[in-house]
Amino acid sequence: MENLYNPEDAQQFIQQCAAYSRAMALRVYTSRLIGKNRDLVLHGGGNTSVKCRIKNIVDEAIDVLFVKGSGWDLATIEPEGFTGLMLDPIRKLRRLGFLSDEAMENQLAINRIESRSPNPSVEALLHAFLPHKYIDHTHADSILILTNQKQGRAYVEEALGSRVTVIPYVMSGFPLAKAVAEAYEDAPDADAVVVMHHGIFTFAEEAKTAYDNMVRLVTRAETFIAEKTRTAFIGVKGPEIEMMGSSESDLVRVAPVLRGAVSRPAPDGRLHRFYIEARTSPDLVKASLSPEAKEICRSGVLTPDHAIRTKHQMVFIDHVPEFDDDLKDLIIPAVEAFKTDFKRYCQNRMDLDPYPILFLVSGVGMIALGETRKAARVSADIGEHTIRAKLLANALGDYEPIAESHVFDMECWNLQKKKLGKAMKSLQGQVAFITGGAGAIGFGIAKQVLAAGAVVVISDIDGSRLNRVQNILAEAFGEDRVEAMVMDVTDLDTVESTFHEICRRLGGIDIVIPNAGIAHVAKLEDLKPEKFDQVISVNLKGTYTVIKGAIPIFRRQGTGGNIVVISSKNVFDPGAAFGAYSASKAGAHQISKIAALELAELGVRVNMVNPDAVFGDDAIGSKLWEEVGPDRMKSRGLDAQGLKDYYRQRSLLKVQVSGEHVGNAVVFFASELTPTTGASLPVDAGNPAAFPR
Ligand SMILES: [Zn+2]
Repeated sequence: MENLYNPEDAQQFIQQCAAYSRAMALRVYTSRLIGKNRDLVLHGGGNTSVKCRIKNIVDEAIDVLFVKGSGWDLATIEPEGFTGLMLDPIRKLRRLGFLSDEAMENQLAINRIESRSPNPSVEALLHAFLPHKYIDHTHADSILILTNQKQGRAYVEEALGSRVTVIPYVMSGFPLAKAVAEAYEDAPDADAVVVMHHGIFTFAEEAKTAYDNMVRLVTRAETFIAEKTRTAFIGVKGPEIEMMGSSESDLVRVAPVLRGAVSRPAPDGRLHRFYIEARTSPDLVKASLSPEAKEICRSGVLTPDHAIRTKHQMVFIDHVPEFDDDLKDLIIPAVEAFKTDFKRYCQNRMDLDPYPILFLVSGVGMIALGETRKAARVSADIGEHTIRAKLLANALGDYEPIAESHVFDMECWNLQKKKLGKAMKSLQGQVAFITGGAGAIGFGIAKQVLAAGAVVVISDIDGSRLNRVQNILAEAFGEDRVEAMVMDVTDLDTVESTFHEICRRLGGIDIVIPNAGIAHVAKLEDLKPEKFDQVISVNLKGTYTVIKGAIPIFRRQGTGGNIVVISSKNVFDPGAAFGAYSASKAGAHQISKIAALELAELGVRVNMVNPDAVFGDDAIGSKLWEEVGPDRMKSRGLDAQGLKDYYRQRSLLKVQVSGEHVGNAVVFFASELTPTTGASLPVDAGNPAAFPR
């Protein structure tokens, strides 16, 4: 492991953090060095602290412990990510024989020097009880590999040498804080304390020394493992296994089934759905095919801290059957078995969620599920490190995880702390797919569907416009919630491969919004057959291809879904010189009704939204109106603004219709607030000639 400490960088931090003390600047600097190394900490794992003497508001000198606040990641931490705690009162807590978690949290809350600072790390008291100025703590992979062994203590002592104190696993919080402080006092020459099945603490009077000790000791652990196992540090042992070409297509089939199998009713009665993160690197595929695969899944977490992100075990799927029904028959019972096992493990605590998070699928790799894409990614990262560490641990000796009861205590405790009952947005957990996503209506729909909590995939044939829309949406709603894929709706093969890509990236699809459309102005007398074909191909065939492409995914998921077809007021109120468009839209409308009839058995609802006169805004204008606008303006002797006003005045409600209005109608249908399918909802500001009938 490389030591990344660079005196020039450290100096630069001191200058950048001029508003803070030198001690804090260096604290931030080495914390980030630790955070950046994924073999040391993962996603908010690990914590660091510094003790400083500062002046309080009445100019008295007080000692303050600045310890990492929860919600901050060491890799990107700032000075305000450290919560300042008055050291004297919290050190006195050590006199107590027992301190409940609630009482500890209260003490950590009332002894802050800044009321708005984040909740301090659960290991805050440990940092307080040790005397050193700087303390670094990680759950380094190599330390976990050594400590999760039958002869773990002997390995640690052999690998790290005599200046390291080793203590058995103790529950985090007050008990661990006391245990580490006592261990240090028994051996005050130590540079570090290793807690079995948990991690390592290094400490010193200088930031650099604490960091150096961390890197030096973790490197010794890595070297020890490498020498004992005679293998590269990260990698899967065993013979080269031929990669199967089918793993990609297996993933595309497995992911929606998994998504369906773990979806569950939320407290409010709605279905709670999840996003997937698939990891298919050759290492993981090899691990999934290895004889140890099942044992890897069953043998527990590396450290109890991980259980909240990964659960205590993974589900192993030992093969991928050729037919979808067989696949469901394999996966659904596997999830049920996990739930049964989990209920036993947690002694039937009904308030705990019994569903699995990680799956190792033979020949495919590892798949994680999360309420958000970020949560899925975090779980996947921890799962990946866990699998690699277990393979190495097995190569080293006998992997022996911590007792299940300790894991459960931690998991239960963490779950209780996690704020439950947070209101779920109406489309949270869902994946929405919008064709014609680069147009004014597509953009408006995407905005509203994103605001309702879904992850959105926009597609369009126009890559550069699509890119622009994606950037605007990603800026507003977050990069990981907006995917964009160039697609031609008239080609079923392309549509199907787009759906495969969505399954690979997100796990499936819940809301399909066929919206792509083109317009052409010509009287029948002048309408050229190839133009007619083109309009029919995009507007009618394109609706059919997109609905057809989604059906196998709906079937695999088994969780229903929504198709909301963007129709047109022209279906009910056609216009002269607009034959190809009106006929194609009427056809698409009829296809949608057929879909409503056929897909009800899958729980998929199909509804139509009939907009009129959506011009778009300056950011994203309407391609349809670019096409038909000039002609309409000419025939009515109006300019662009005049034409908009004309349509507004023509409507009953005198309202300018926007893409967002159309999006609201889509969200209404997709939210399933009413048991409705096969319906048309006009979004046209009121047009008697276009009332659905
Ligand atoms: Zn820890």
